[in-house]
Amino acid sequence: MNKLINKVVLTVIILTVSILLAPGVPLQAQGGPFTRADTLRGSDGPARSWWDVTFYDLHVTIDLEKAEVEGWNRISYRVREPATEMQIDLQVPLEIDSIVQDGQPVEYRRDGNAFFVALQAPQAAGQTKQVTVYYHGRPRPAVNPPWDGGLIWRRDRGGNPWVATANQGLGASVWWPTKDLQSAEPDSQRIAITVPDPYVDVSNGRLRSTTRNGDGTTTYEWFVANPINNYGITLSVGEYAHWQEEYQGELGTLTMDFWPLAENEAAARRQWVQARSTLRCFEEWFGPFPWYEDGFKLIETPHLGMEHQSAVAYGNGYANGYLGMDLSGTGHGLTWDYIIVHESAHEWWGNNITAADVAENWIHEAFATYAENLYVECLTGSQEDAAEYVIGTRARIANQQPIVGNFGVNNSGSDDMYNKGANLLHTLRQVTDDDTLWRDILRGLNETFRHSIVTGAEVERYISGRMGIDLLRVFDQYLRTTRIPIFEYRIDGASIAYRWSNVVAGFDMPVRVSLVNGSYTRLLPTTEWQSVVSSGPVQVDPNFYVGVRELR
Ligand SMILES: [Zn+2]
Repeated sequence: MNKLINKVVLTVIILTVSILLAPGVPLQAQGGPFTRADTLRGSDGPARSWWDVTFYDLHVTIDLEKAEVEGWNRISYRVREPATEMQIDLQVPLEIDSIVQDGQPVEYRRDGNAFFVALQAPQAAGQTKQVTVYYHGRPRPAVNPPWDGGLIWRRDRGGNPWVATANQGLGASVWWPTKDLQSAEPDSQRIAITVPDPYVDVSNGRLRSTTRNGDGTTTYEWFVANPINNYGITLSVGEYAHWQEEYQGELGTLTMDFWPLAENEAAARRQWVQARSTLRCFEEWFGPFPWYEDGFKLIETPHLGMEHQSAVAYGNGYANGYLGMDLSGTGHGLTWDYIIVHESAHEWWGNNITAADVAENWIHEAFATYAENLYVECLTGSQEDAAEYVIGTRARIANQQPIVGNFGVNNSGSDDMYNKGANLLHTLRQVTDDDTLWRDILRGLNETFRHSIVTGAEVERYISGRMGIDLLRVFDQYLRTTRIPIFEYRIDGASIAYRWSNVVAGFDMPVRVSLVNGSYTRLLPTTEWQSVVSSGPVQVDPNFYVGVRELR
């Protein structure tokens, strides 16, 4: 999702109503202070690290009138090392009714949003076991979804109930019991949602069964055949229209399922054709769609959008741009639907490749935002158009906090992970100076780390290795400081002296500079002065996200 705009929207709201809201209400504070609860939520602590979740069997009944849920989750897990205490997360005000293992109730204690279960049965290394959590309650309603999420209870224009979830950052435990850690993905998951007739639930993966319960409710059983991050698990309940299409992609036939509100079907049939060109473009740049078994879906939601895996949430009003705006200010952002493109890009970046710690969610957002300009290039066939778009988004970079956040406390980095992250990647494309190699790197990341959890270091090392350049200082500079490299030069007769300044020690990124009559030369500046013949004018290729300073 794109959090940047939310600040703008929020600021407008604050200014409009002239109420002093606490800044950053919906966004996590960067730099703390962090609480014990943040550590319980954000770290692979002692009651978590000994077990790997392998399967979630989630069953939830939705009470539309009371805005409540009731259900159970049977957690299958592999024991990594013997232990007796297990952490399961479920957020206030939801209540656990019981926890059962091997047919026996087990004791547990609550510490805020974390439950610590005292397991009785031996937990032998290598064993696969199950524990079932029964729960109920009224989940936290979303305040400003998708950014400040929770359960969203709305009605469509016809007055039908329209319910959805959005809980990235906040955590899936806002509505179901889970190991609420980004690195904890099950190998597969069932999501069985029971709703009052005649409404439909659309969740992730494939619809396996529809069971009329004979009591005025129907259970929709969905199954995800692949690893999935838990914030991607979703429900969407309402009066939906549905149609299916097929797409011939790199791995054969991919089903595309479309679920707009019934009242918006005509608009959806017009606007959502863009999903096809989006898949075409991204398969070309990033490799095969990662979830052929689960299919591609677009689901209309009462919030702007979210990258729910194999169930992309769409709430962009069937209009091009981002809520009708062009985030780049160049016009290129108004020729396509931001939510279809950005959120679908997350199927590769964030869903296929998931950051182990939300502190490194730039792996999701930098690449998904970068994907937007590649889509412009796919649309117009012009690298210049694509470059204008991504360069245009630089106006939105704040450079006030590093992109990488704090580890182990559920703290994602600054919003610069979007546009600055995209411009870092655009700069790296220039550094490769070889689009075939650059595309191979983007595809190679998706192939090498297919369906995996990664660290930033792994991604940084992979890109460095494929480019044959040690880029670790470059990543340090752009991801872990707020300083932008400055190409500093001094005209010295028929030559110039040049170097990098405002950089971390050892920074030595190549850059293209025009030295003679506008033709570019590739230079390898370091922090030491070097010189090169130049008759001017000196101009750094604007595709590189760097500053330029002439010393006189
Ligand atoms: Zn995003």
